Amino acid sequence: MEIANRMKNLGIENAFKVLGEVNKLRLQGRDIISFGLGEPDFDTPQNIKDSAIKAISNNFTHYSPSIGILPLREEIAKYISKTRNIEVDPDEVVVTPGGKPVIYYAFLCLVNEGDEVIYPNPGYPIYESIANFIGAKAVPLPVLEERNFSIDAQYLKKIITPKTKMIVLNSPQNPTGGMIENQDLKEIADLAIKHNLIVLSDEVYSEIVFDGSFSSISSFPGMKERTIILDGMSKTYAMTGWRIGYGIFPKDVAGQIANLVNNTVSCTATFTQMAAIEALNGPQDDVIKMVGRFRDRSKLIVDGLNDIEGIKCLKPRGAFYVFPNVTQACKNLNMADSSEFQQYLLDKGNVAVLPRSSFGIKNEGETEEYIRLSYATGEKEIIEGLKRIKKAIEG
Ligand code: PLP
Repeated sequence: MEIANRMKNLGIENAFKVLGEVNKLRLQGRDIISFGLGEPDFDTPQNIKDSAIKAISNNFTHYSPSIGILPLREEIAKYISKTRNIEVDPDEVVVTPGGKPVIYYAFLCLVNEGDEVIYPNPGYPIYESIANFIGAKAVPLPVLEERNFSIDAQYLKKIITPKTKMIVLNSPQNPTGGMIENQDLKEIADLAIKHNLIVLSDEVYSEIVFDGSFSSISSFPGMKERTIILDGMSKTYAMTGWRIGYGIFPKDVAGQIANLVNNTVSCTATFTQMAAIEALNGPQDDVIKMVGRFRDRSKLIVDGLNDIEGIKCLKPRGAFYVFPNVTQACKNLNMADSSEFQQYLLDKGNVAVLPRSSFGIKNEGETEEYIRLSYATGEKEIIEGLKRIKKAIEG
């Protein structure tokens, strides 16, 4: 069949491709340690699973309104109002199958062809992919190692043009584990107001913070009405496979987004929405435990990586990723870039990581090489994986 032209512009989240490759190798009998996919290895808390089972038994198995069921939207509105210190109405909440669709829907609804969208780079690859797909121009905003993997608001100022429509922020960040400083958030907020820009704030890791505290740009004066918040249950409650997330939009936009949900998936699974109410409303002990484990693992992996010749790794501030600088290791092994390095670790070391190229093209003047490791995997695997990487590099 002939594929439509627009498909040429669509990218991919490479982590899923690597997951497929790892599964294939494992089926062939290879013992691979994977630091590839970004999802908690913990089970969904029992109270949430029980509430879904109860919801199915009670026949919450039919369509729901496209925007999401009201009791869940009320819970989400309460949670966001409290954690972001803003007033959110349930009619400003749209429930979606995971947080990811919020990116697609927000771009489709708010960005015209030819508009410019500024996105963090390296960053979650879907922002650039969808911006290109809808015919917008994706403009990279460097996330800098020398700024502890934050962005530079002064640089942002330089890349805003009359065509800029939206800025995408993600803090804590995938793939670096960095966070945007409050002072930078304030400067970005000022710029967004001055240039009448929309901010898509991807806050899916807001509960997974170990260093400092989370701030949302929506909390700054004048920002709530121009910010779209993306959040969900996937990361916080280890619910990646349930597919439940949400966006917070101005009320008139929320109606349009619900219409996009209506035209695509009709609604999010109803019993999943019931379980999400329990997630937000029920005990949070499991979340606290999980974040504690991520904190401990972050120390384990950072120390282990820094003990390997040619690797330099900063401490992440949140999420469950590290983004070590492997420039010297690549040089020592005579490798052109981190893609070659990643392939080498898989072939020689039986360890799966993701290369820099999975998170966007290099920024202008970027000469360093990086890989991403997700440490949402057991401590034993982390220790073994580090041992393998060290051996593959140092011999
Ligand atoms: N945003 C970021 C930055 C992510 O890393 C991810 C998942 O990896 C998502 C959004 C999507 O999350 P969900 O599984 O809820 O669609």
